[in-house]
Amino acid sequence: MISKPRVKRRLHELLALRSESGSEGEVRELLKAWLEEAGMETKVDEQGNLIATMKRTHKRVVLNGHLDTVPGYYGVAEEGDMLCARGAVDMKAGLAGIVEAMHALAGEELRYSPEVHFVVGEEAAQASGSAALAGRCRASFAIVAEPTSLALHLGQRGRVTISVAVKGRAAHASRADLGVNAIYRAMDAIERLRLLPMAEHPQLGSAGLEITEISAGIASNVVPEVCTFTIDRRLTLGETPEQALRQVHHALAGLDYEAKLVNGEYSKPFLLEREHPFVKALAEAISRHRELRYGVSMATTDASYYHSAGIPAVIFGPGKPELAHTKEERIDINEVVEFSSILVDFLRQR
Ligand SMILES: [Zn+2]
Repeated sequence: MISKPRVKRRLHELLALRSESGSEGEVRELLKAWLEEAGMETKVDEQGNLIATMKRTHKRVVLNGHLDTVPGYYGVAEEGDMLCARGAVDMKAGLAGIVEAMHALAGEELRYSPEVHFVVGEEAAQASGSAALAGRCRASFAIVAEPTSLALHLGQRGRVTISVAVKGRAAHASRADLGVNAIYRAMDAIERLRLLPMAEHPQLGSAGLEITEISAGIASNVVPEVCTFTIDRRLTLGETPEQALRQVHHALAGLDYEAKLVNGEYSKPFLLEREHPFVKALAEAISRHRELRYGVSMATTDASYYHSAGIPAVIFGPGKPELAHTKEERIDINEVVEFSSILVDFLRQR
């Protein structure tokens, strides 16, 4: 049985503990104890990820969530069924919902064996804990419980980072006529990149290109020799990192520059079919509780790691995605309860 007061109490406890990237220990220990109470076998790997398994059948389904939040703790406020706190939406509501589902299913015959992956470092610059876990797990399907307002997200755009260095010639700023200002050249390069047409996909939407970092100059009286900037490039279905790089080269032809893909910063775009058997089973479980809505995620989530490891993954969780990382994160406990009930329904033997 799903218990609303228990979900609320647990979520309140999770939110009261700060867990910024690198400080997930306390939250992890709490969740570990709760999952063990539900009869699960738990393990913490060398990176600090918590893995919990409940073996019932050979078909395994991963339930994924990240333990960390972005910085900016602002306490926990309770207003009726609403809890407001950093991480309420992204994504402790998802964690609390998964734990409650595991409690409700303890000891039952199941259609799929749940494998919980609660990972560290998802919000940090380095690769999330999911990267390693996805690579060594042998599940048939994964649900990443990032906030989607309980819409079933079947895909997401990919992402790649491209670094560009535009070259000029250094000179004393009082004799700028003897140098070539790399900043001015970079301005030209950026203007060209902003005019690039972006590919469109009917479901995943438009690809994207955004200049997100820039640096140049060694002193206030020196004409800068180099200006480097970073391109955050969102890939729509069918695009590859190499194509995105070629497009940059094409746009910057004739300039003195270097452009390269940043190693390790690539996630592949994907889109699952509604007819996929696990998607269908989850969609049916959702339909039994609420109106089924499909969608795609605008952000890059850990679903891409599972997808790349050959495990079809969807994004499905409680909370409004547009509140993630804001100072207005708030979650309705009823939505978390609904999320738990849907998971139970999906995993339970029918
Ligand atoms: Zn998140």
